[in-house]
Amino acid sequence: MTDYLIVGGGLIGLLTARCLNHEGAQVTVVERGKLGRESSWAGGGILSPLYPWKYPDPVNALASWSQPRHQQLAEELERDTGIDVEWVQSGLVILDEDQHAAANAWTKQFSSNLLSLDEHSLHDIEPALGAGRHSGLWMPDVAQIRNPRLMQALHQDLLARGVRIAEDTEVTHLLTRKGRIQGVRTEYSEINAQRVVIASGAWSATLLKDLGHQLPVTPVRGQMVLFRGQPDQLQRIVLSRGHYAIPRRDGRVLVGSTMEEVGFDKTITDDARKALVDAAVELVPFLADVPVERHWAGLRPGSPTGVPFIGAYPGLEGLFINAGHFRNGVVMAPASAQLLVDIMLERPAQVDESPYALLGRSDAA
Ligand SMILES: Cc1cc2nc3c(=O)[nH]c(=O)nc-3n(C[C@H](O)[C@H](O)[C@H](O)COP(=O)(O)OP(=O)(O)OC[C@H]3O[C@@H](n4cnc5c(N)ncnc54)[C@H](O)[C@@H]3O)c2cc1C
Repeated sequence: MTDYLIVGGGLIGLLTARCLNHEGAQVTVVERGKLGRESSWAGGGILSPLYPWKYPDPVNALASWSQPRHQQLAEELERDTGIDVEWVQSGLVILDEDQHAAANAWTKQFSSNLLSLDEHSLHDIEPALGAGRHSGLWMPDVAQIRNPRLMQALHQDLLARGVRIAEDTEVTHLLTRKGRIQGVRTEYSEINAQRVVIASGAWSATLLKDLGHQLPVTPVRGQMVLFRGQPDQLQRIVLSRGHYAIPRRDGRVLVGSTMEEVGFDKTITDDARKALVDAAVELVPFLADVPVERHWAGLRPGSPTGVPFIGAYPGLEGLFINAGHFRNGVVMAPASAQLLVDIMLERPAQVDESPYALLGRSDAA
């Protein structure tokens, strides 16, 4: 018998496990494949929503709570595991001229550090930008992390802390009795647990079907390409018309992404690769001469408005959800984990929990 069983070893599941472990709980994570190899591995690791003013306030509330904690998390993980997750405050330059008014209104509400740049200062801040860029928005506080390293460090950290991890083990059913969760059935055995958390990313709706519930979390494919550049050719994260380029420390540049509703299909396509390479060269022309090293796809856990579902599952005691983080699961992860743990431990939450509840949301009818 474990106190808490978490279904899904993505970033949301692993950070939830880490928070519970800090509280002295006995935690087991069950992962169908290898830990952290789905959306949490595939993403860009930008620690901000791309255009934050386009998202509902509850997304920004989780992102703002999390942002300062990411640096702390990175430092703790490096201290405890020796793995540098490459938290870098590279800042974000936004080149869309039609976003200035909305951005300025949002900045006042969230007291965010956002500056308008003219042509001269824009090119000072990021010399690699192409010609013909006359103005931009500059968010100097925006940071990034390198997702695969973050997942690797968390894996090691949790093992060292005594969290049990079962990889290559699919949870196939929830075990229930008299309105209470009893545990889960996997493809190999049954595991008893006092409480179960569904943190299964894009697949989170699947297990709830047995309970007759249609959780509106669906896969949204995102394709990315990785260029093998040299260090410091690009310094800032740059964004224009939904496409972004992220400079990694070793010179690699990650460019994304597509938004495709094609079900549970991670196939990569030539059309997407061409569109991403074209967008990359338009953003930062030097990429025309840099080889593409890799091209991949991941499945975001899409939710109707991008606001995740975090809280108790109504009608079945002991079952909880932490899912549906869509495009912002990396940046929102620390707050999402903390919020769910506060709810499970029945103590005052550090973020208002009501917008994330499963019931009473117009987007979850
Ligand atoms: C291309 C792309 C770019 C992105 N860029 C960013 C970004 O820059 N910034 C940002 O904040 N977010 C970004 N995201 C979004 C972010 O990656 C996700 O919101 C986040 O990783 C979701 O984490 P998760 O743990 O819920 O899901 P996942 O990482 O998908 O983990 C869910 C896990 O559950 C497992 N699982 C599912 N069903 C079962 C089962 N029945 N039994 C056992 N295990 C199961 C899966 O195998 C998987 O490992 C991006 C996503 C993509 C695809």
